[in-house]
Amino acid sequence: MAVSGLGAYDDQNIFARILRGEIPCRKVYEDSWALAFDDISPQAPVHVLVIPKGRWVSIADFTAHASEAEIAGFWRAVGAVGKQLGLEPAGYRLLVNTGEDGGQEVAHLHVHLFGGRPLGRMLERPAGG
Ligand code: AMP
Repeated sequence: MAVSGLGAYDDQNIFARILRGEIPCRKVYEDSWALAFDDISPQAPVHVLVIPKGRWVSIADFTAHASEAEIAGFWRAVGAVGKQLGLEPAGYRLLVNTGEDGGQEVAHLHVHLFGGRPLGRMLERPAGG
């Protein structure tokens, strides 16, 4: 179920629990700003989630309230993941679902990183859309 991108942070959300080590993940990268791990339901040959270590609900919350250092550190980590996974020559795609229309289901900011094949059009186009 999609969530609001503007609600209060819930410390029991699944990614908070992964950050605390309460739930396992297949880690692909970690630094002081971010953790990256394989999505449990991959939509491409490479499908990694990059999450900040801070308590941010969404990209809206993060860009409004995080420090410059945290924002810079997080986005550098996203780029480092793409590089570390060897995706830079062929390319990759980032996606940040935000709030209800964006289809965000976990209320801890996460960047989807897709790669490993040509990814086609940006958005599904429903009939009449
Ligand atoms: P979103 O719809 O943008 O909120 O995406 C949430 C993503 O989290 C989905 O792609 C899920 O497959 C993924 N996900 C949910 N639980 C886990 C988990 N325990 N480990 C890894 N990925 C997860």
